Amino acid sequence: MASEFDVIRRYFQEATAARDDVILGIGDDCALLRIPPGQQLAVSMDTLVAGRHFVADANPTNLGHKALAVNLSDLAAMGATPAWVTLSLTLPAADTTWLTHFMQGFSALAATYQVQLIGGDTTRGPLSITVQAHGYVPPDQALRRAGARVGDNIYVSGTLGDAGLALAAQQGRYPLDAGARSSVQPHLDRPTPRVALGCALRQVAHAAIDISDGLGADLQHICTASGVVAQILAQHLPLSATVRAYIEQTQDWQLPVSAGDDYELLFTAARADEARIRQIARDLAVPVNCIGEITAAETMVMVLPDGTRCTPGAGYDHFADLAEVCQNMQPDT
Ligand code: ADP
Ligand code: MG
Repeated sequence: MASEFDVIRRYFQEATAARDDVILGIGDDCALLRIPPGQQLAVSMDTLVAGRHFVADANPTNLGHKALAVNLSDLAAMGATPAWVTLSLTLPAADTTWLTHFMQGFSALAATYQVQLIGGDTTRGPLSITVQAHGYVPPDQALRRAGARVGDNIYVSGTLGDAGLALAAQQGRYPLDAGARSSVQPHLDRPTPRVALGCALRQVAHAAIDISDGLGADLQHICTASGVVAQILAQHLPLSATVRAYIEQTQDWQLPVSAGDDYELLFTAARADEARIRQIARDLAVPVNCIGEITAAETMVMVLPDGTRCTPGAGYDHFADLAEVCQNMQPDT
């Protein structure tokens, strides 16, 4: 078994471009890194498990992309500049075709952000992928969850609910025609980490998080850490045409605030910095929308277009109620 994995080690050795702050990369007992002077090291880790986070026969190129993307998203949410990653792979077999494709997805995204793979571990067992991402951030400029203040605007990048809708379609819980499906599927398979936005928000945002568990749950994390409460307006949620059509069909306003896997940045900033936020969004060509405000109320609330108030994403199984809707609907193609 050792020899099999000795052979596949070459897949990692040349997978990513060399950075000049890597003194020693893959091949020894440890990697040696030169952290830029005066910067703090930011470290994050995420695991994807077959059968839990993805289906075992999922496209390996997409998996390679996503395993790295979700980690870069955590660095982005902290305002950290990504630099180095380690990769722990547990594989059922030394499947070189799978590995080649996995590393293609991983390496392409690594190249986009000049990230170098500097080590890892490879073992045999049920398919599981762990990435640890390392980045750096100037002292006292990291974007923490704590820091939101009453009166702050709440902003979110991109659109919400696309990945959740793609997952529902994939699992046969909601019918989507081919065009709609292909518009949401990339959000689930190949999320875009908002790295440049995270870095640009240093010294502007008061608090930030990336949306992995759904906007409601992740906004609650900011509120709990900051000791504040949020009010969001459903009509201001950024929605793709596909998710908008879904909501028109189902009236399910919970999908965009409770489905996970969006990997958009959710952050708060002083109302007075509104123009600065707009400028950052324009400069980076990243959509950023204000969806509500931080308040001193008792509980988090989402106001629907008809004025009804509800709790965004709290323990609501949005697809359980939709079985009937789905039975009466057929995909167009
Ligand atoms: P050790 O026995 O010291 O743990 P290994 O044989 O596991 O060393 O790994 C040898 C080298 O290959 C190390 O530098 C390690 O970081 C690297 N490596 C092993 N697996 C991976 C992987 N999945 N991704 C990147 N580097 C890896
Ligand atoms: Mg090892």
